[in-house]
Amino acid sequence: MAAQIFVISGASGAGKTTLVRALQANDPNLRFAVSYTTRPPRPGEVDGRDYCFVSEEEFDRLIRAGLLVEYVHQFGYYYGTSQTWLDQALKGHQDILFDVEIHGARALKERCPLGIFIFILPPTPAVLEGRLRNRGSLPEGELQQRLARVRQEVQEAPWYDYLVVNDDLSQATRQLQAIVTAARCRSDILWSTLSPFWR
Ligand code: 5GP
Repeated sequence: MAAQIFVISGASGAGKTTLVRALQANDPNLRFAVSYTTRPPRPGEVDGRDYCFVSEEEFDRLIRAGLLVEYVHQFGYYYGTSQTWLDQALKGHQDILFDVEIHGARALKERCPLGIFIFILPPTPAVLEGRLRNRGSLPEGELQQRLARVRQEVQEAPWYDYLVVNDDLSQATRQLQAIVTAARCRSDILWSTLSPFWR
């Protein structure tokens, strides 16, 4: 069966990371595309699983070597998608999940127009602010910066294929799983595999 490319973006504090983990945990056929970043690891994050944590010099080398499909500079750090992951996705052996912000998603949309693009939203701006504050790890300036940016980012939601409002985590997880399941039943994905049996 042809592999699917899933791209998930969302407002910071929309619970995207938790949702992505829940989706992965229940779906062994979905591989997570690990991005490169110059941001230092947060507690609990593992190098090579959550991100490949690299220095700015190393990131620069990756850019110059053409090993990144796209990259952004945000909140003082670089984030970039590895070309290797995209090649693997395009070879079509296994479904791949990319977790990128909107500019990255737009870049991937150009490369993979048939990918499934999903945007995760928090229920309201006030709930989002509460969640960011509860995280406790963000300085006030960065928090305000993120809130302003999120309001801007959410305006991009309409071009995504699916919107998931993360009010209740288990419901949002079910919705994401349903999107993945439906995508795998798309005729443009499935028919190339089924058609030889029906000739
Ligand atoms: P965080 O620092 O909270 O892990 O991630 C910040 C933002 O960077 C998130 O919105 C995440 O989706 C985005 N991000 C992570 N990896 C990449 C990447 O490779 N490319 C782009 N464009 N954004 C990324």
